[in-house]
Amino acid sequence: MRLHDLHVPSSFWVPLFCVVALGLAPGCICSQSNAVTLTPDLVVAGSPELLHVQAAPDSKLEGDWLGHKVQFFPAHDGRDWFALTGVDVEAPTGPSVLRVVVRSDKGALELSRTIEIHPAHYRTGSLTVPPKFVEPDPDDLKRIQAESQLKAKVFAASVSVPLWAGSFRAPVNAQPTDSFGTRRTFNGKLASIHKGMDFRAPTGTPVRAGNSGMVVLARPLYYEGNCVVIDHGLGIFTISMHLSRIDVKESQLVAEGERLGLSGATGRVTGPHLHWAVRWQDAYLDPAKMLRLNLDSVIGAAR
Ligand SMILES: [Zn+2]
Repeated sequence: MRLHDLHVPSSFWVPLFCVVALGLAPGCICSQSNAVTLTPDLVVAGSPELLHVQAAPDSKLEGDWLGHKVQFFPAHDGRDWFALTGVDVEAPTGPSVLRVVVRSDKGALELSRTIEIHPAHYRTGSLTVPPKFVEPDPDDLKRIQAESQLKAKVFAASVSVPLWAGSFRAPVNAQPTDSFGTRRTFNGKLASIHKGMDFRAPTGTPVRAGNSGMVVLARPLYYEGNCVVIDHGLGIFTISMHLSRIDVKESQLVAEGERLGLSGATGRVTGPHLHWAVRWQDAYLDPAKMLRLNLDSVIGAAR
């Protein structure tokens, strides 16, 4: 049972969530309007989380959670502030502290919440791939290291405003599989966690942008095959792998639904499919949960 199922007036819970800090008169002036809310409210490893807080338009908001900087942006009304964040699939479960500070000419208000991270129940599996993907030769290792540095650079930078608008949509018209978070062995040796969602797309199926953003990587990579990364702003990225053809260029702005290329079977695969991943900073989030997150009423004022 969740809190909201108890039908207790929401104002009852508010004093639990707020801490009044510097610059305010003694006593709690907190109301529901300055509590931080999370959607979805049940937080599990691998879940995207939309944070919301109300604050005056000229406020400055800062926050951190699980070692990540949380960047808020104002909605059109200027009073509703949002941050699209998430919990990495491998994040430790248990309590975590979400810290948010609202600064305005009235002073600083610290809103802190203890967020319980619940375990997600992911599966295990084994795959067989060509040996070069399990024990790469020295030349391949050099390539893999260079690509690893390139990817680190790409993911370290993100546009400072939200480029996405509204909910994310599936990148391909094909059946998804429920394999995010699966612990896998390759050829009985290499263990890794599957950090994306696979769609059963035959080679040549159009792959589209899940939301608007900027293409920040569009090239062949050793494991990912032909790969396209879109920066949606404020640390949110989507990644499409194993394409047979890339139709966009790096630095290109794309609209939601715009074709990025065609699906295929390049890189470390067992057959044709689209691997689609969602990242917030360095955290991998469950794409199925991102697709279910209703963002239609949330559009950044910076657009
Ligand atoms: Zn995959």
